[in-house]
Amino acid sequence: MALKITAECINCDVCEPVCPNQAIFEGELIYQILSDRCTECVGHFDTPQCVEVCPVDCIPKDPDYPEDRGALMNKYLSLTSAASGSDVT
Ligand code: SF4
Ligand code: SF4
Repeated sequence: MALKITAECINCDVCEPVCPNQAIFEGELIYQILSDRCTECVGHFDTPQCVEVCPVDCIPKDPDYPEDRGALMNKYLSLTSAASGSDVT
């Protein structure tokens, strides 16, 4: 499941640089997460890095994007192979 940022976001900017998938960006009002790039950090880290650093705990799972670990790993593989151009199996 991708994560999402709620209205409690205080725009502190600490989550954006820790995302390994460049899934976080500064939106018009608050930071936002691109669901097609968020893997819950699967493939990179054991825990979601944005959740680890967020000081106000405003990054829950997004129920609009139900994905199990296998789906998240497939997303990671497609993101990394697209980025590197190499064959990841
Ligand atoms: Fe990025 Fe990981 Fe947060 Fe998803 S869970 S937005 S991949 S840091
Ligand atoms: Fe918003 Fe939390 Fe990211 Fe800070 S770390 S910008 S409060 S979502």
